[in-house]
Amino acid sequence: MTAAEFAQRLHGRRSGLGWMARCPAHDDRSPSLSIRPGRDGRTLIYCFAGCEKGDILRAAGLEWADLFPPDSDRPQRRAARPQRPQTTAAQWAAWCAAFLGGKK
Ligand SMILES: [Zn+2]
Repeated sequence: MTAAEFAQRLHGRRSGLGWMARCPAHDDRSPSLSIRPGRDGRTLIYCFAGCEKGDILRAAGLEWADLFPPDSDRPQRRAARPQRPQTTAAQWAAWCAAFLGGKK
């Protein structure tokens, strides 16, 4: 999905280099979600109210993959690592256990 398509989906309005749309992840009265095309074709989104990107995507019914252009071979450096919207407590606990366990 391109930035333009992403913006269209959220009914964004053209603004400078990108678009401004109402953020689907919070009760947004005036557009506070910035959508911009990134240099490598990715879509960059930023909510001025501070919403997590993962929440915005979920609320819009989209996925992380939708931030990438359809014709790119995804795994470019940054995209290679799985992007988790957030770490769950269980994951964090497991990570801590692994870290402490390996430290002996
Ligand atoms: Zn928001």
